[in-house]
Amino acid sequence: MSRILIVDDNALNLELARDILELDGFEVETASAGDEGVAMVRRNPPDLVLMDLRMPGISGLEALAILRKDGFDDLPVVVLTASVMKGEKERLLDMGFNGFLQKPIDAASFSDEVSSFLRKR
Ligand SMILES: [Mg+2]
Repeated sequence: MSRILIVDDNALNLELARDILELDGFEVETASAGDEGVAMVRRNPPDLVLMDLRMPGISGLEALAILRKDGFDDLPVVVLTASVMKGEKERLLDMGFNGFLQKPIDAASFSDEVSSFLRKR
């Protein structure tokens, strides 16, 4: 069973994502801040991280940079963002995220999308 860490400061989004993934058989852990997420990866690396961008404290992008600097090069880190700016997806993938998922979460396809990033490892 794959273990997913969701890092998001939005409690509702965190719960929704957790509920959907747990229903589909994933083991889910959550963090509500970037530094907390980084600490959890260091302690017990998950199979995949879903990372919000805008959070109090360090941003999702900063958390990603710390994880890569720590040597978690093969850990899939998928950005989960409400940003819809043109070119944003490409920019984020260029910056090192392994995938891009758009908020609001689409309950019907979310687990399949997460699985597809796991298989790309
Ligand atoms: Mg946020």
